[in-house]
Amino acid sequence: MIEELKKYGIVLENVSLKTYNTYRIDVSCKYMLHPTSYEKVKEFLKYANNNNVSYFILGNGSNVILADNFFDGVVVKLDQLKKILYNECFVTVGAGVMLNFLARDIIEHGLSGLEWASGIPGTIGGSIYGNAEAYKTAIFDNLETVTYITPNLEIKTSKKKELFYNYRTSYFKENPGNVILEATFSFNQGDKEHSLAIIKDRFDRRLATQPLEYPSAGSVFRNPSLTLPAGKLIDDLGLKGQKVNDAMVSVKHANFIINLGNATGKDIRNLIQLVHDRVKAKYNIDLILEQEIKDW
Ligand SMILES: Cc1cc2nc3c(=O)[nH]c(=O)nc-3n(C[C@H](O)[C@H](O)[C@H](O)COP(=O)(O)OP(=O)(O)OC[C@H]3O[C@@H](n4cnc5c(N)ncnc54)[C@H](O)[C@@H]3O)c2cc1C
Repeated sequence: MIEELKKYGIVLENVSLKTYNTYRIDVSCKYMLHPTSYEKVKEFLKYANNNNVSYFILGNGSNVILADNFFDGVVVKLDQLKKILYNECFVTVGAGVMLNFLARDIIEHGLSGLEWASGIPGTIGGSIYGNAEAYKTAIFDNLETVTYITPNLEIKTSKKKELFYNYRTSYFKENPGNVILEATFSFNQGDKEHSLAIIKDRFDRRLATQPLEYPSAGSVFRNPSLTLPAGKLIDDLGLKGQKVNDAMVSVKHANFIINLGNATGKDIRNLIQLVHDRVKAKYNIDLILEQEIKDW
């Protein structure tokens, strides 16, 4: 199959995914494909559909809990789709560009509006999929259009108003099978010093409150409401420091699970279940996962 896959981009065989997911779960896949153009992504999807080849799209792996068993299929990384095109206040960005990189790049081009995202280690594709958000600003706020491949293998561009989005979810999360290729945003003119000061402030806040020194995938659960953070519920139950093997509820931030070294996907899932069940038993609240479990 490797010769076939090479038609669509750069291919690696028997790849450890440990450095491709921010929990550092140590699992491997048979193939990793880095398609080199939008057309190549589409051609690969056509080949995979026609030949029953298992695949999944992986952004920066910063919002997923991978399974522990070998993935005998193709992990598709869109990191070759990294165009950034400026046209006055409009910016068109490939799905593989990192959001935290873009946050700083637009400042260098005299624009502002993504300072909130400077600490989010995800790609544009993954961030639109989950409608990434921080400090009450979300990626859909500045979005104009998204270009994607539909399950019928059409390349389509939709305006924001045609796409459903809500707290930590989007049309793409609700309708699996669409592959985001690029997005166009509009930003305001900015003041570089002011933007950099905001970024520094946000970074200092994250450093003080989040366990950035350990592997994690950010917040585990969605907040049940604006006034009821999941972290507070978990903290009030005394669950900080709770462990399942090397997976631990962070002592710094109760809504983060960290990997102390050799946590498996199963350890993380078991700890999530434990926290979920304890919150349910005490408060009768069903916490909803913000992170995504990837099974195969
Ligand atoms: C330290 C830390 C802090 C964080 N802080 C925040 C925060 O403040 N706010 C926040 O919202 N999140 C936060 N996160 C979580 C995470 O970084 C974001 O959710 C990010 O947007 C995920 O992007 P990704 O590229 O890593 O997606 P991945 O984890 O790789 O993928 C997530 C999902 O998106 C799908 N996907 C990825 N790319 C595409 C594509 N091109 N087309 C279709 N589907 C695709 C994947 O298949 C998967 O289902 C944090 C994570 C960490 C580790």
